[in-house]
Amino acid sequence: MKTIVQKYGGTSVNTAEKREMIAKKARDVLAQGAIPVIVVSAMGRYPSPYATDSLFSIIEKERADKRSSDLLISCGEVISTVVVSEDLKTKGIDAYPMTGFQAGILTDDRFGDAEIIRIDTSRLDEILSQGKVPVVAGFQGMNEMGEILTLGRGGSDTTAAALGRYLCSEAVEIYTDVDGVFSADPNSVEGTRLLEQLSYDDVLAMARSGAKVLHPRAVTHAKQGQVPLCVMNTTKERSTPHTIIGTETISDMPFLGIAKSEEGNMTRITVFMLPDASEESSLIASAIEKNGISAADVRIEGIAYSFLTDTAGAADAVAMLHKTLMECYFES
Ligand code: ADP
Ligand code: ASP
Ligand code: MG
Repeated sequence: MKTIVQKYGGTSVNTAEKREMIAKKARDVLAQGAIPVIVVSAMGRYPSPYATDSLFSIIEKERADKRSSDLLISCGEVISTVVVSEDLKTKGIDAYPMTGFQAGILTDDRFGDAEIIRIDTSRLDEILSQGKVPVVAGFQGMNEMGEILTLGRGGSDTTAAALGRYLCSEAVEIYTDVDGVFSADPNSVEGTRLLEQLSYDDVLAMARSGAKVLHPRAVTHAKQGQVPLCVMNTTKERSTPHTIIGTETISDMPFLGIAKSEEGNMTRITVFMLPDASEESSLIASAIEKNGISAADVRIEGIAYSFLTDTAGAADAVAMLHKTLMECYFES
C-alpha cells in the first residue's frame, strides 16, 4: 500500500483556513492512489492554550520530574490529532486519530529527549488497509515500561520521518510556515534563496548547526529509510517550489547556507560551502573581515566553515555575511 507522510507544525494546524489546506493536500494524495499518514504538532505557539510551552507553563518546569512533564506536554499533540481528525471527518475524509503509542512508536528511556528505537506498524497497517487516514500525534512515543516520553523540541519532524522509514512511504512531506530550506532563516535574513535539492548529509549538518527548520533526527531516519524528505509551505499548493532532500545536493549558489547556534555565552556561526568547493573558505574569511565581524575558534570541518562570535551581534553578522557572499557571487 502506497503511503505519503504529511507532517504539520504547530502553526499549520491552528486555524480553520490552514486545516482546509490539510484536507486539500490529503485529497491530493488520495487522488494519486496513495494514503496520507498525517502527523501533527501541538496547536499554535505560546501563549496559545494547547501549545507545548503553554502546557509547560502550567507547572514549574524546572522543578517537575521529567516523567510528569513528558506526560503533560504529550497532551498538546493528542489534542491536535483529535481536532484535525474531527475537522477532516467533516470534510468527508475518514480520519483516525492516534497517539504515538497507538501508532506503535517505541522509544528509549530518555524523558524529554527520547529516541525512537522501532515502530511496530501492525496497528497502522490495519487502519490503512481499511482505507482510513491515520492522524498521528507527533513528538511522542512509549518505552518498554509503558511510559509516555517526548522526543525533544521540534520532535514531530522525527515522528514523521520515522513513520516514513518504517512504513516504506513514497515520501515524507514536512509542512511549515516557509517554502522550504533556505540559505538562511528567511524570517530574519533578507535576500535568502530556496535550496531545492539537498542531500541528507548536507541538510543534517545544517540542522545540527542551528537551521531549526528540521529536526536533525528526522533527517537521520529519512536517510536510513532512503525516503525523500520534502519541506513545503502549508498555505501553498504541493506543486509550489520547495526543498527535496535525497541523495545529492544540486545548487547554483556560491555557498549552501548560514546557520547559528548558541555555544556557552557565545554564538557559533556556520557557513556551509558547496561540496567540492573548499577554496570558498578564503572567500568566507575575507567576507568576515570585510564586515568587521569578530571571529574566534575558526574551524573547517567538511563543508562547514564555523567560528565563534558575540551573541549580541550574531544576528547582524549572519545577515551581513549572507549579503556579502551573495554579492560576491552575483558580481563574479
Ligand atoms: P514548525 O512549527 O512548522 O515545525 P519550525 O518553527 O520548527 O516550524 O520551523 C520553521 C522555521 O524555521 C521557519 O519559520 C524559519 O524561521 C526557521 N528557519 C531557521 N533556519 C531556516 C532555514 N535555513 N530555512 C528555512 N527556515 C528556517
Ligand atoms: N510541540 C513540540 C515542540 O514544540 C514538537 C514539535 O513542534 O515538533 O517542540
Ligand atoms: Mg519544527
